[in-house]
Amino acid sequence: MRIAVLSRNENLYSTRRLKEAAEARGHEIDIIDTLHCYMDITSAKPTVRYHGEALPLYDAVIPRIGASITFYGTSVVRQFEMQGTFCINESVAISRSRDKLRSLQLLSRKGIGLPRTGFASKPDSAADLIKNVGGAPVVIKLLEGTQGIGVVLAETKKAAESIIEAFMGLKANILVQEFIKEAGGADIRCLVVGGKVIAAMKRQGAEGEFRSNLHRGGTAALVKLSPEERKTAVDAAKAMGLNMCGVDILRSNNGPVVMEVNSSPGLEGIETATGKDIAGMIVEFLEKNAKPNANRTKGKG
Ligand code: ADP
Ligand code: MG
Repeated sequence: MRIAVLSRNENLYSTRRLKEAAEARGHEIDIIDTLHCYMDITSAKPTVRYHGEALPLYDAVIPRIGASITFYGTSVVRQFEMQGTFCINESVAISRSRDKLRSLQLLSRKGIGLPRTGFASKPDSAADLIKNVGGAPVVIKLLEGTQGIGVVLAETKKAAESIIEAFMGLKANILVQEFIKEAGGADIRCLVVGGKVIAAMKRQGAEGEFRSNLHRGGTAALVKLSPEERKTAVDAAKAMGLNMCGVDILRSNNGPVVMEVNSSPGLEGIETATGKDIAGMIVEFLEKNAKPNANRTKGKG
């Protein structure tokens, strides 16, 4: 196969591993800098151009689109879709997953366990928002935050109201969410590829930190999933329409609840924690599924 990885940096662990794995399995693989791609949008022969030339027709594209370039990155992925190239995650699914609110609404539509969440535009609804998710403490999140930045724990109703007012005053979109205290500062990252959980790890936040992000000093360890957790992760990936994703789950007293679904999950933490060749499993999925015109949406949202 001829594969392209869309990535801003060929030295990133995940990008390097995908290249290694594809080559080890006898494929040709190019690392393409997403922001240097540009598009020739025609009905007859749509192409993606790169450094003055049309890119070849790839059998498969693995988009690794950072949160800061979602708009441009998804338009590049969409252009590959217009050529009939198989993209492991489709542009519309990536866009969905980037908006925490839209993701939660799509998951709720499928009856998947979620932390109770409120969303509002005006601070006059703050008191009721807090009450609806079960009262303080509550978690307040910026809609497009990442790596734990923009996620705040408000211990009291007063603190929560002030934070909500402050964010809304700045015109920031925020979610107000039930705090799953019993998760104990840990979450579970399930890596789903092709409708199966192929690896999972438990991430524990640093001492005194409720956020388990590895970027915030969290540590990763092996974890055994319950059948219910496994099903929740698979259902969440399906609801989002992602062939490859990281589903983050909290262990709540009411069973597993999905916090977010990441369409460009990092491979370093999970390969290290599990010792599995995840990159190889992703390439294997492409070997079985990358057929021309096999993407379902082709940009149709
Ligand atoms: P980000 O996209 O920045 O990673 P998350 O929604 O994943 O934002 O939140 C970051 C971390 O904060 C999570 O990994 C989890 O440990 C903790 N967290 C988030 N929401 C909740 C919640 N409702 N209850 C308990 N902990 C939470
Ligand atoms: Mg997260």
